Amino acid sequence: MPTFSILTLGCRANQSDSQRIAELLRQGGYEQVGQEEFADIGIMNSCTVTAEADRKGGQMLRRLQRKCSLVIATGCGTAKKGGLWDHIPEGVVIVPPSERENILRIIEKQQINITVGKRAANDANSDVCASKEDSGSEASADSFVRHRTRALLKVQEGCNHMCTFCIVPMVRGPLKSFEADELLPKIDGLIKEGFKEIVFTGTHLALWGRDPKSKILFRERGCEGRSFADLVEELILKTEGVRFRISSIEPMSFPKKLLDLMKAYPDRLCPHLHLVVQHASDRILKAMHRDYTLEEYEALAAEFLNSVPGACLTTDILLGFPGETEEDMEILEAFLRRVPFYHLHVFPYSRRQGTPAAEMADQVPEPIKKERVRRIIALGEESARQVYDSFRGTERAVLVERSAKRPGYVSGTADNFLSVEFEGDASLIGEIVKVKIP
Ligand code: SF4
Repeated sequence: MPTFSILTLGCRANQSDSQRIAELLRQGGYEQVGQEEFADIGIMNSCTVTAEADRKGGQMLRRLQRKCSLVIATGCGTAKKGGLWDHIPEGVVIVPPSERENILRIIEKQQINITVGKRAANDANSDVCASKEDSGSEASADSFVRHRTRALLKVQEGCNHMCTFCIVPMVRGPLKSFEADELLPKIDGLIKEGFKEIVFTGTHLALWGRDPKSKILFRERGCEGRSFADLVEELILKTEGVRFRISSIEPMSFPKKLLDLMKAYPDRLCPHLHLVVQHASDRILKAMHRDYTLEEYEALAAEFLNSVPGACLTTDILLGFPGETEEDMEILEAFLRRVPFYHLHVFPYSRRQGTPAAEMADQVPEPIKKERVRRIIALGEESARQVYDSFRGTERAVLVERSAKRPGYVSGTADNFLSVEFEGDASLIGEIVKVKIP
């Protein structure tokens, strides 16, 4: 599930606007994460009451750009030019308050065509989604690329799985898969912009090709039964000069051919899976309607880790699902000590009206959820250190993303998702370089 975080400046009214934005995004299938966590979309809801607030807003946007794939400025500071506008860095998408209700539509467009400045300039209908480049800046595509090294490409949307805690299938439209014909021109455009890595995103990637439209399309072409892995293979074969990464994917319907592709095309398909587990207790998995047992998940994770060179695993953990006991937590902790995860996205269960879980008895009290989240985050941090250590001294292809705080150093993301900091200068930003993991 794609994630977002919101930074809010100013008064209570702004805080309530932020709540509305969060609601709109959650309804659209996005998961809110804390401000300190990595998020796909970073939103800054600004205040412009003082010059200091404008300056602080600009500072926050720069901070978000270091962590997020797409950064949005909204709120009072974006209502008119001047003030905050002078502090908004290149590449940030500006959504003025009058367009707040359209934020989801604006984000969806950006994710399909992440080249913010160009999109806004080229889209004749777009008078709402300005970017800094549109505001009269002379910024070129090159300067934009310097800020943005990885592009997101939505290849699928919608889910019909009906996990009992999830509102997505109820608020999201029907399953929709985008075919290679639609995606290739976008990929070409991104390569021309200088992007070296494209991340395939979707609500439930493993369901790619299961929508009625795709079935008709595939039948007409005589290639019925194509899976997400078949799409990935086609995109690898028909493009060059870019590597692909698979964003969050569910173990249900996971096409194992993806593992073969990672082995066959190590420079083109990153050996990283964010394979969502949610929990380790079979009792809880069943109540969540996850359709796999822990044994099945572990077998898939082991196959990935043991067969794909350099493989690295990350996952989501949902804590405090109704009925979760200390015994379930012990099962989960034992699992997390057994399986080497490099990153855990840990989040507490929150009751969503309209979902079966909201009606379940034994809702877990908030303080207990918080304590469990804290425990699992600590375990995740330990696991991340161990995974990183296991790669020290090996060579990985790192996409350089920014200058590090340490003078003379840069940092970036390895093909297998390790965050790496190494000696180098800013001219490497946006390039993929071979690095011995320090
Ligand atoms: S697979 Fe489950 S958690 Fe993921 S979007 Fe579908 S219903 Fe929600």
